[in-house]
Amino acid sequence: MEIQKKLFDLNYEELKTFLNKKIGIEEKKLNMRAQQVFTAVYQKGLSDFKNLTTVPIDLREQLNKNISINNCKITTTHTSSDGTLKFLVQLRDGNKVECVYIPERTRGTICISSQVGCSLTCTFCRSGTQRLVKNLSPSEIVSQLMLVKDRLKDWGDQKIISNIVFMGQGEPLINLKNLKTAIQILKDKNGLNYGNKKITVSTSGIANKISEAADEIGTYLALSLHAPNDELREKIMPINKKFKIKELIKQLKYYTSVVKEPIFLEYVMLKGVNDTEDCAKQLVKLMSQFPSKVNLIEFNSWPGVKFEPTERKNIEKFSKYIQDKGYMSFIRRSRGDDVLAACGQLRTESEKSQY
Ligand code: SAH
Repeated sequence: MEIQKKLFDLNYEELKTFLNKKIGIEEKKLNMRAQQVFTAVYQKGLSDFKNLTTVPIDLREQLNKNISINNCKITTTHTSSDGTLKFLVQLRDGNKVECVYIPERTRGTICISSQVGCSLTCTFCRSGTQRLVKNLSPSEIVSQLMLVKDRLKDWGDQKIISNIVFMGQGEPLINLKNLKTAIQILKDKNGLNYGNKKITVSTSGIANKISEAADEIGTYLALSLHAPNDELREKIMPINKKFKIKELIKQLKYYTSVVKEPIFLEYVMLKGVNDTEDCAKQLVKLMSQFPSKVNLIEFNSWPGVKFEPTERKNIEKFSKYIQDKGYMSFIRRSRGDDVLAACGQLRTESEKSQY
């Protein structure tokens, strides 16, 4: 039986409550103690309370007995020729998830998973070929970042990992409760201190969760749109049968009214499927309804997939059409695809338990 609490499951306030109720730290010292823990662990990379020299020895022992710092481990690392690193992270229960570190000239981005497997079965996405196994807990989400920070020796003020995107395996808004706690930890000023503009949550469009995300998360939001009308979107993304584009637009308007930042529309370019001028025209009409920018993504192939990537010159043409109508369109270069670390290529072998 699990008796120890996992530190990465607790936001700052929850840690204070735990220190008070379970370890008996008096009220007036709670803030100081929680701060000492958050600073040491999240900013300096402390991995064992024995070395928390800012607190008395008996408290170090109490902390060690009651709280564990990290239960996950990296079992495999793949390095792409472009410097992208793909990590396989093994959870305490034996399940595995992938996360990816993407170095760029001016920033370093980590792409994090929110579930083991995925329930959405988007036809172009490799993660969708793996059944949903489970939602990740806050600690399993935060662990991915902490493990990679440790690998990169990213402690102190430097922030080698400057940006965090929830674009790994799974659908973050289906795991909203745990996502919220994890993001509170990522944003906490006493610890990791990532700002709202350093974090992007990507959703396939779980419309009935978007307002809650606006009110309680507040980071950038990306919508995996991939098709500008219901008929086509339904064919490639079954989730569209449940949440139609009209409803999504309504929710995204709300999101931008609260968060005051444009929505990133992700649009993977599938040859002969969604890359026609007519699609571009419909996309522009959609973009006119709320603040947005579109990211055109090169389709990353994977074994067994039936789609092909749109040729580069046609992606450029599509992009130019949107720009000429006065909207923002960017072409996203694929990263890490030689080690299947690019968007839509992540998949682990964890399967749903039979019991
Ligand atoms: N479930 C969330 C988080 C996953 S993000 C979501 O759908 O947004 C992963 C992104 O990569 C999504 O935009 C997804 O649609 C896109 N993607 C999936 N398969 C891809 C592929 N083969 N090539 C390029 N992008 C892909």
